[in-house]
Amino acid sequence: MGKSKCDSRIKVMKGDITQVKVDAIVNAANNSLLGGGGVDGAIHRAGGKEILEECIKIRNKQGGCETGQAVITTAGKLPAKFVIHTVGPVWHGGNNGEEELLKSCYQNSLKLAVEHKVKSIAFPNISTGVYRFPKQLAAPIAINTVSEFLKNDKTIQEIIFVCFDQENFKLYSEIINFSNLMK
Ligand code: ADP
Repeated sequence: MGKSKCDSRIKVMKGDITQVKVDAIVNAANNSLLGGGGVDGAIHRAGGKEILEECIKIRNKQGGCETGQAVITTAGKLPAKFVIHTVGPVWHGGNNGEEELLKSCYQNSLKLAVEHKVKSIAFPNISTGVYRFPKQLAAPIAINTVSEFLKNDKTIQEIIFVCFDQENFKLYSEIINFSNLMK
């Protein structure tokens, strides 16, 4: 009944994505794939050098990763099996394809996940840190994009949005809980 926007496979939690036990965690990487600050730094620190070594191999083969695209590596010492590295758009005011590129990050990450038979996947709030994408715009884009993807997919059983800050956690919880109320 009503508008059922949210698949029950979509969940939200507050915490550190490096600690989440899922088949794959997604990294908000940069074009170089060589690591950086924020969640990227946390993943490389916790996962160890194996992740960076695979990133360097990919870089040598295809020259980094374009914005909106995704690549997959081992998860090293992390509890996950894979890290999917996607490059979110830097926010430049919203008229530079930022929304479409952010959507592509979620879509391409999920495509790679399905190709690797990933059943559970955790996403950080891509682009909402150093890349300054407004959180209140990014949250509905993320949730709607994964919901659309799940309509045509049976492989993935769980998608967890791992929010590091309270503001994102509140935004995601409100959207997900509200759309469940409306079902
Ligand atoms: P971007 O460059 O894509 O903005 P950031 O890493 O700066 O990437 O930020 C993306 C999001 O990741 C932010 O919402 C930030 O709060 C969050 N974040 C930072 N560290 C972690 C972590 N360890 N686990 C989950 N999310 C994190």
